[in-house]
Amino acid sequence: MTVTPVTFVERARQAVGSDVARSNRVGAERLAGLREAARQAYPAFDEMRDAARQIRLHTLAHLDDHLQRFADQVERNGGHVFFAADGTEAIGYIQRVIQDRRVRRVVKSKSMVTEEIALNHALEASGVEVVETDLGEFIIQLAGEHPSHIIAPAIHKTAADVGRLFADKLGVPYTDDADELNRIARAHLRRIFLEADLGISGVNFGVAETGSICVVTNEGNGRLVTTAPPIHVAVMGMERVVPTAGDLAQMLEVLARSGTGQGLSVYSNIVTGPRRVGDPDGPDELHVVILDNGRSRALAAETAEILACIRCGACLNVCPVYRAVGGHAYGSVYTGPIGAVVTPALMGLDPWADLPFASTLCGACRDVCPVGIDIPRMLLHLRRRAADERHHPFRWVAPGLRAYRIAATGPWRWRAFLGLGALAARLFGRSGRIERLPFHASGWTRFRSLRAPAKKPFRRRWGERHGT
Ligand code: SF4
Repeated sequence: MTVTPVTFVERARQAVGSDVARSNRVGAERLAGLREAARQAYPAFDEMRDAARQIRLHTLAHLDDHLQRFADQVERNGGHVFFAADGTEAIGYIQRVIQDRRVRRVVKSKSMVTEEIALNHALEASGVEVVETDLGEFIIQLAGEHPSHIIAPAIHKTAADVGRLFADKLGVPYTDDADELNRIARAHLRRIFLEADLGISGVNFGVAETGSICVVTNEGNGRLVTTAPPIHVAVMGMERVVPTAGDLAQMLEVLARSGTGQGLSVYSNIVTGPRRVGDPDGPDELHVVILDNGRSRALAAETAEILACIRCGACLNVCPVYRAVGGHAYGSVYTGPIGAVVTPALMGLDPWADLPFASTLCGACRDVCPVGIDIPRMLLHLRRRAADERHHPFRWVAPGLRAYRIAATGPWRWRAFLGLGALAARLFGRSGRIERLPFHASGWTRFRSLRAPAKKPFRRRWGERHGT
C-alpha cells in the first residue's frame, strides 16, 4: 500500500470541491441509483441479503476448514496452491513462476488484492511488462494513479479526461466519445492478450467443494486473462472462499445487484483447474496464491466481520464523506467506508488512524451492505483504539470532551457553559447567521454559515412563560 505523507484531513481538504471529486460524486450517485432500482425491482432482495450474510459469517467461523478443503480441491484438479503470509511472500512466489517460465509480458484483470500488495510495481521493477485489461484499471495505469473506487477504478475521470490521456499515451486522435474510447482500448488490448505469457487475476470467490475460482467482470477481459495465456496466477484474499457452488450462486446475485444494479454481472468465469485433454482453451498451468496479509489478525479482533465484505462498492456510493472527497483522499487502495475499516484492520492503525474518523456515522453504509456488515460499529471501535493507543488524529478532541463532561455534569456549570456559548455566538453571529468561527471550530463554517442561537434562550423563555 502507498503511504502518502499527508493525513486524510489534508488530502480531503485539497479534494473537496475539485473537478475530480465532482466526477467521483456523479459516478457514485449513479451507481447508488442503479442499486436502489435493482432493490425495488426484486422483492426478495432483503431475504437474499440475509442469506448472503449467513453464508459469509458461517464461512468466516470455519475459515480454516473451508480454506483447506478449497486448497486440496485445487491441487486435486491439477493446480498449485501457495499460502502467502504477506505481500512479500506472494510477490516472491509469483516472481519465481515468472523467472522459471521466462515470462516477459503479463496481462491482468482487475484485482484489489494485487493493488493491496503493489504487485504491478514489483513486477515492473524486475523488468516484466504488466498490462491492466479492465478498462478502468487500464485508464488509471496509463495515468499512473491508484483506483478511486473498488468496482469503478476510474470513476473520477470524465470521458474528456480519458480522451486526452489516450491521445497522449496511445498516440490516437482526441475524442470524448465513450464508444470510440472503448473501441480504441479494445483494439490496443486485443494484440496484447494474444502475446501475453501469463495472466493474473483476483478471485471474487473460491469454491471449497469444487476447487474452482470465480472471476466476475462486465467486459470479458477476465475470461481472456484466465484462458488466453498459457499460465494463470489467481491471487485470492484468504477470506474469499465460499463452501459450495450453491453458495456461490447466492453471492453472485447480491454482488451484481449491490454493485451495479445488474441481475447478474455479464461474465462470471469459473475456472476449475488447468486445461484438460480435449478442453478447447484454458491455461496449461494454474497457480492460486492465497493471501493473509493481516487478515488472520483482523479475524481475531473486533473487526472480524469486515472480512465478510464481498467488495461490491455499495457502501462507497452512499457515503456522504466519500461523495464529497472522492477515493484518493483515503490514501489507500481501499476507499470509502469499507476502506476506513479494512485498511487499519489489515495494516494496523499506524499510519491509518485517521481513516476511521472519515465518517459521519450516518449508517447508510450498513443499510446498503449486501452482507449487513455493521461498519459504524467497527469505526467506533477503531476510534476508541486510536484514542487508547494515542493515535487520535485530532489531539484537541480528548481534552475538549473532558471539558464538556465537567461542564455537563453540574447544573451551575452547565448554565455557565451555555452562557459562554451564547456570548460567543453573539460575538460571531451577524444578521442571524454565523459566517465564520475561529480556530478548531473553523471547519464548521468553511463551506456554509450556521444559524445564530436565539438572543433569548429557550430555557429563559420557558421560565418566563410558566413562572419557573
Ligand atoms: S462493506 Fe458491504 S457494501 Fe461495502 S464493499 Fe463490502 S460488501 Fe459492499
